[in-house]
Amino acid sequence: MAQSDCDGLGRTAELERENAELRLFRAVFDMAAEGIMVTDADNRILAVNPAFTVVTGYAPSEVMGQTPRCLRSGLHDQTFFEKMWGDVSRQGRWEGELYNRRKNGEIYRAWLSIATERDGHGRIRRHIGIFRDISEARDTAEKLWQQTNFDPLTKLPNRSLFLDRLLQGLVQAGRGNKRAALLFLGLDGFKNINDTLGHTIGDKVLEEAARRFQSALRKGDTLARFSGDEFTAVLTAIETVEEVEQVVRALLECLAEPFLVEAHQILISCSIGISLWPGDGEDVEALMRNSTSALRKAKDAGRNTFRFFTPSMDARAQARSRLASELSDSLEHDEFTLVYQPVIDVPSGRVAGAEALLRWHNRYLGAISPEQFVPLAEEMGLILPIGDWLLTAACREAAGWRALADHPLRIAINVSPRQVQQGDIAGALERALQVTGLPAGLVTVEITESLLLASGEEVLGKIRRIRDLGAKIAVDDFGTGYASLSYLKHFPVDILKVDRSFVAGALNDGDDARLIEAIIALGHSLGMQIVGEGVETAEQMTFLAERGCDQVQGYRFSPPLAADRFRDFVRDGYA
Ligand code: C2E
Ligand code: CA
Ligand code: CA
Repeated sequence: MAQSDCDGLGRTAELERENAELRLFRAVFDMAAEGIMVTDADNRILAVNPAFTVVTGYAPSEVMGQTPRCLRSGLHDQTFFEKMWGDVSRQGRWEGELYNRRKNGEIYRAWLSIATERDGHGRIRRHIGIFRDISEARDTAEKLWQQTNFDPLTKLPNRSLFLDRLLQGLVQAGRGNKRAALLFLGLDGFKNINDTLGHTIGDKVLEEAARRFQSALRKGDTLARFSGDEFTAVLTAIETVEEVEQVVRALLECLAEPFLVEAHQILISCSIGISLWPGDGEDVEALMRNSTSALRKAKDAGRNTFRFFTPSMDARAQARSRLASELSDSLEHDEFTLVYQPVIDVPSGRVAGAEALLRWHNRYLGAISPEQFVPLAEEMGLILPIGDWLLTAACREAAGWRALADHPLRIAINVSPRQVQQGDIAGALERALQVTGLPAGLVTVEITESLLLASGEEVLGKIRRIRDLGAKIAVDDFGTGYASLSYLKHFPVDILKVDRSFVAGALNDGDDARLIEAIIALGHSLGMQIVGEGVETAEQMTFLAERGCDQVQGYRFSPPLAADRFRDFVRDGYA
């Protein structure tokens, strides 16, 4: 009896303890933040907790007896679930991330762990699935990752991710006994587009350039936006340098078609510097440095081209800084002169005047081409004092031409965009006219097409002031910039100078010929005069003359001449 009493007491206590334990487990089940789902051996749902309902939207009564299939998003294929259940039956558990669908149709990311409970014979009795909705945490983490690693505008990897990828690329190439190439791409004249057309259009150009570069690269190459208008690419698994060249040419080529941005046709090119691994640097840093200097070389070579890094590179860089330091003393040392290229009036065959072209002869470096030093002078801000000097020098020379011919000779003077944007160009011209006594009506100021598109009222106002003085405005190298003729009528322009590249192609390239015809027709319809540049042959001259071109200049008639040689040319006439 005592025994059974004892037994009875023990059972009650045990039952109570079990009860308490059950209540505890129930509370855990009910209050858990994770969704919990218990299924039987056939995977029929036996129980779900309140968090399950919160995450999935299904009430217990809606899922009881069903399989968890009702939660599927449809985003995973059959093999995904086969692997999941394979793991469960082999290892007794599975853990991982998957997409599920809520009752309202919304898809969410869940972190799910599945465990199995087996009976004494090892048969599966129940599955217990516990899951958490991690969509939000994932989104935040992903956004953060995007922000730190990608450029928001082009969606390309940014500098920091790129350096990572570059390193990976080198490791990969090393393992496979292959080479890798680091390309540094700089858009040519992008700053000009930004300055003249505004940042919104500049951004669109960058996006489009990124798209085109991406499509010119091979699968597996990484493209990144490195900074402003600079992109980088790493090519892995390279066997020969020719492969690199091929990709590089495709990159240059992909910009050939003009960009169409908000009714603007924009032509842009890029320059590319290349360093190879192994060979051009042992680490990421050295490769970066060397491809940057190769890029500079490509820009120096006239842009729209590429250069490989070579050790002589450093010597080049030094030469450039030498050039800059010599240039800064050049005015002081009186190293500039002007030469004059005769401009011929087509109907009469007479000399109509000349274009003044700047020459720099440095006492140490010798003669340096304006194509080399004018951009440098612009960069250094030196073009303003140089420009002031040359305005006066050119006007003084032209004022002396009065007795040379029985008709007045005109002088055309090149001004760079900087001179107009940053300086008081009309004021400088006015002073030059005053001190030299040259009538304003004999001066043509040559500006660039890109400057016109600045169309900021300020720049336009400055151009109008030049005209108000009585000088004419010519657009130099017309046709190379934006190829859109229709905007012209809005601008204060008197003369269009057809770029010499079109004249060069006039006789063997139908496109060039049609473009020249279009420029002449449109210019004339707007009351403008057309000047053909770079005329080298009689055939080119005939072509232009037959189409009504008003004036021409080029080696066919005369190269640019020293001041006294130009005077001789006018006096003697040309043969
Ligand atoms: P640009 O204004 O288009 O000048 C015409 C260039 O074509 C000159 O080169 C001239 O020598 C060259 N040229 C003339 N006839 C022919 C020809 O028949 N065939 C060929 N192939 N070329 C011909 P240059 O003097 O070397 O000047 C190059 C550029 O440097 C100029 O192009 C201009 O953009 C700039 N530049 C020259 N002088 C000045 C200047 O005084 N001020 C500014 N801001 N820029 C200047
Ligand atoms: Ca010119
Ligand atoms: Ca020109």
